[in-house]
Formats: sequence, C-alpha cells, structure tokens
Amino acid sequence: MSTQAAADFAALVNISAEKWPPRQRTYFGSLEIRPVEAGEAFAITPIRGCTGVMDLGDKRLMEYRITAREIAEDIAREINGDSGDGSFHGVFVAAGDVPTEAELADARRRLEEFQRRLVAAADLEWERTKNPMFITDLERRAARQLGLEKPWLYDARPLADCPVCAEKIKHGVAVCRSCGAILDREKAAQYGLVAADEKDSPRNRRSHAEKREQEPAGK
Ligand SMILES: [Zn+2]
Repeated sequence: MSTQAAADFAALVNISAEKWPPRQRTYFGSLEIRPVEAGEAFAITPIRGCTGVMDLGDKRLMEYRITAREIAEDIAREINGDSGDGSFHGVFVAAGDVPTEAELADARRRLEEFQRRLVAAADLEWERTKNPMFITDLERRAARQLGLEKPWLYDARPLADCPVCAEKIKHGVAVCRSCGAILDREKAAQYGLVAADEKDSPRNRRSHAEKREQEPAGK
C-alpha cells in the first residue's frame, strides 16, 4: 500500500446502536456502518479513498479519485438526512482518526435534540388523534432511547375484538376485561388466573352465560 493510500483514511463515527441497511456505491460496492455495541460509546467504520470510473461514452472511461473524507461525508449525509428537519441519526466524520470528546459531545447533543423533536411531534399527534397508528417507528425509538414513558409507546397495533363479547381488547391479553373470558389459557395459568390443567371450568362457562343474558339478543 502506498503512503498516500494509507494516509487517505477517514473515521466514520456512529454513536447509535441503529443498524442501517448497507450503503451501496459503484466505487466500493457495499458498506455496512458499524453500530455501537454494548459498553461502547461509539463505533468507527474505517473509510478508505477509492478510484471511481466514469463512462464518457464511445468506450472512453475516465478514472477519478474520491477521497476517504468525501466518501465518509457522503455516507454520513445520506444516513442523517432522510428524516426531515434537523434530521440526525448519530453518524459523523471525525476530524482525526478517532473522535474527540468535543466531537462526541456535539453528536450526542444533536442526536438528543432531534430525538426530542420527534417525541414532541408524536406528543402533538397523540394529543390530536389518540391513535397509535400515527406514531412512527422513528418516534417510538426516540422516546425509548431518551428513556421516556409515553402512552403512545404501547399498543402499536389496533385493538382486537373479544371473540366472546366483541368488546375492544388489547392484543395478547390473557383474560377479557369486559366479560372475563379466558382468551389465552396458557398465559392465564402462568399468572395463576386459572389452574394449568383447567379446561372449561364451570365458573368460566357461567360467566359467559351470565354475560350473554345481560346483553340484548341480536346486538
Ligand atoms: Zn370479552
């Protein structure tokens, strides 16, 4: 490796644990951005300069040099820039071979600012619609990463209908809150709500029957 090639290195720094799809470029193929692993403050994806080939037509090709820094900046821009105003996902190019404390602090501040903006947008959406379907995955992730408890963090799926009483219930519940029907026997047994070997207990059958009596027929 020539001295110049060895020197043409850029550190693409990532402070997030996010796994993005590999980046594709004609001049280097596919590149995966390293996510932060447990216990790490940042991860570095080393970037090297490349030689690209431009097709000028008439079988004429022109080679051109792309520096490591140009490539790294291009990738950082692509990853950070796809989520609207102030979009930042924690990827930047360090000035040196390793990021400085100041660079890392700046990236953390920008990431948090962006995440808080996402959470604020989700809060507003929730205020208006109370519909978790309108909360984006990005907004959920931001709230989790900031360690915030939000009502819109849960129940990402719409409510289901209880097969017994047709009331709206959450997905995955063991017992219907409305009619008391056991909907997931295994889970109910796990929490001691029914005996593990209990089939269709008299009590259970009775509660269904009572419920049916209470409701007008043909509802
Ligand atoms: Zn029910």
